[in-house]
Amino acid sequence: MSELRLMAVHAHPDDESSKGAATMARYADEGVEVLVVTLTGGERGDILNPAMDLPEVHGRIHEIRIDEMARAAEILGVRQHWLGFVDSGLPEGDPPPPLPEGCFALVPLEESTEALVRVVRDFKPHVMTTYDENGGYPHPDHIRCHQVSMAAYEAAGDYRLFPDAGEPWNVSKVYYNHGFLRQRMQILQDEFAKNGQEGPFAKWLENWAADDDVLLKRVTTKIECAKYFQQRDDALLAHATQIDPKSFFFTTPMEWQQRLWPTEEFELARSRVPVTLPEDDLFAGVQP
Ligand SMILES: [Zn+2]
Repeated sequence: MSELRLMAVHAHPDDESSKGAATMARYADEGVEVLVVTLTGGERGDILNPAMDLPEVHGRIHEIRIDEMARAAEILGVRQHWLGFVDSGLPEGDPPPPLPEGCFALVPLEESTEALVRVVRDFKPHVMTTYDENGGYPHPDHIRCHQVSMAAYEAAGDYRLFPDAGEPWNVSKVYYNHGFLRQRMQILQDEFAKNGQEGPFAKWLENWAADDDVLLKRVTTKIECAKYFQQRDDALLAHATQIDPKSFFFTTPMEWQQRLWPTEEFELARSRVPVTLPEDDLFAGVQP
């Protein structure tokens, strides 16, 4: 049994299953203690699976998402903690409407940081994961997730900050998830073509310059986790209201993914231990 601990900070239930999920499943399988912290309840998520767009689902979305999250965590073999903030929703329109009162993105950073620092000091992770400064995509909760995670990384080890939130703990490393890679998409799309199939990524690739790939610019760390891709997909499907099983996420055959792109990618954002880049282990350089 390892004495290492990994904390993955995510904005909404289902984010943990689409960003770095196979990596978490691998570390959990290898005996690392893994905790997902979900900042909001996902109350403002739309029902994205037509098969779940049912009268008995509407009005109960909060409760249903709690059950979905519990199932996904069980599939990944990780623990999960709700931080208890309220989903800000994705403001759509031009200009976008104001954010709803009391939502996570409007909570003062000091307050949400203290809540996360409390969990960090209690769980004592060696490594944290979160999103980059753009949030991975421009949802206000994802951008806030970055801000809160980085503030908590800095504050958790400082005894002068949030003295009522537990004993100080220095997290050794913090990473950004980088799952959305042009090169991966291209390689899979080429495999569809090789097999005389159309492939789901043509439109994406058309509008995405080959030299504008985060993989080339930011990724420092690739984690081999092909063995856990099925667990990742099963966990994502457990979020039944949020994921259409017919979506393009699931159209690439598993064998191609495992053979052609067996890793998940991360960017080392901060470290308190000496590192040598690139790496193939989130815990490289960390002493339990
Ligand atoms: Zn999200």
